[in-house]
Amino acid sequence: MSKAAGPANRKKTPSIKRRGRPPIPHTLIRAGVVLTPEHEIRKGAVLIHGRRIIAVGRDKEIAEAVRHVHDRSGRFEMDVVDAPNLVAVPGFVDIHQHGGGGADYMDGTVAAVRTILETHVRRGTTSIVPTLMTASRPALRKAIAAVDAARPRRKKGSVSSSEPIGPDILGIHLEGPFISKERCGAQPASAVRRIDEAEIREYLRISRTPVRIVTLAPELRGAPALIKFLVRRGIVAAAGHSDAGFDEAIHGFDAGITHGAHLFNAMRGFEHREPGLAGALLLNEHASVEIIADGRHLHPATVFLVLQAKPEDKVVLVTDATRNACTGKDPLQTAEGRLYGSNLSLLQALRNIMNWSGWSLEDVLPLATINPARVLGLEKRKGAIVPGADADIVLLDYKLRVRDVWCAGRRVNFSNKR
Ligand SMILES: [Zn+2]
Ligand SMILES: [Zn+2]
Repeated sequence: MSKAAGPANRKKTPSIKRRGRPPIPHTLIRAGVVLTPEHEIRKGAVLIHGRRIIAVGRDKEIAEAVRHVHDRSGRFEMDVVDAPNLVAVPGFVDIHQHGGGGADYMDGTVAAVRTILETHVRRGTTSIVPTLMTASRPALRKAIAAVDAARPRRKKGSVSSSEPIGPDILGIHLEGPFISKERCGAQPASAVRRIDEAEIREYLRISRTPVRIVTLAPELRGAPALIKFLVRRGIVAAAGHSDAGFDEAIHGFDAGITHGAHLFNAMRGFEHREPGLAGALLLNEHASVEIIADGRHLHPATVFLVLQAKPEDKVVLVTDATRNACTGKDPLQTAEGRLYGSNLSLLQALRNIMNWSGWSLEDVLPLATINPARVLGLEKRKGAIVPGADADIVLLDYKLRVRDVWCAGRRVNFSNKR
């Protein structure tokens, strides 16, 4: 990528319009480099139709595709974005995020959800799994209702211009309430409770937004049955906020645990005579793990240890961002001085790992794009610039600043700074 990035140039091709419904617009993004993230395409281009990517490749190849589209459809309208000094990457996917911009999903209001989405989309995050922490049942119901109400209603294949442009809410992550009191971290121990499948059933019933991940402590009584229930429903069962020893963790894997929430944080750590849940997650090549790369939750050396130990597609960057994220304020802490989530954006997490390691963007990008999408089984739709995927695209400059963002084919307006 070369320097001296200017704002992306925009020009519109002449449109050929006929009577009837307006044509679904095409957008052509030409970038100095496209990171898909599995391939690096120099002088690349991405062709978008409506909310989806329909072609990606070398600029010259895509010019052919454009001609083809032009011939077949009588009606054609296309925005062209020329960004020769920028890099196009898939929008980031955050599967563990509580808030940012001064708001928390537990505020339980649509305004709070919108504030958080807007805060993170400006930093390149285009898919989010709002994470609800341990709280009373009424508080969780209220938070679920707020996420439901704020979630754009999208029809298949089409984009309604009346919907707000913002990140896709992929589902809900319930972090608790069935966790270990010993390892509850900054979550309120008073709201931690015994496993009750009926409570989860209620949330599944009332929530229009799918519940995608439930983080629980696998050593709790009734955990194996609940884990099996979640897996049958296609929900990711994650181990976290847990005091499980190595054997208890293995039992959890046997029941269906496939993911570890913020590896090493709020769980029994690695000890050479009792490797604990952390050791079990590191060893299990089928389990994915989250890491919080803010330099506070984990020493950079621990991050490298995880990256060396785990298969490369099983490590996922998450923010675990809380209210103060992206506000310029200090990260939240409990009265006892415990970390209360982070102030990260996923973009900052990527920058941190690059700064610690000297690795390239291409090396680290999967950790915040395709890898988290894989955890949810959404890798064909999210976290990659491939035909058929949602057109969630971020243009970055050579200093890794966000210059432009598309969410499902629609360009985010950056005019009012937050
Ligand atoms: Zn947590
Ligand atoms: Zn969390």
